[in-house]
Amino acid sequence: MTRRIFRFVDYRVDPDPLAALVMQAKCISGDEADCGEKSPEFSEDQQQDMTRWIAKHRAEKGHGRFEETYRRIVVATAKL
Ligand SMILES: [Zn+2]
Repeated sequence: MTRRIFRFVDYRVDPDPLAALVMQAKCISGDEADCGEKSPEFSEDQQQDMTRWIAKHRAEKGHGRFEETYRRIVVATAKL
């Protein structure tokens, strides 16, 4: 039997400065099932474009509930 020793190292986790935040909206309106329509993916500086997509979907379909998802890359670095 092999004995494995795990030595705990402290890490810090920071956003990757080279990777942009990605946002997306999804319509979760609906009676029995969610509509599920998704916006394109937007970058951090396109918040207004995502708001515009939501407003357009609201106007066209009458749906008013949305789920916003934010995704970012992070980097873990061992603390010395
Ligand atoms: Zn919808």
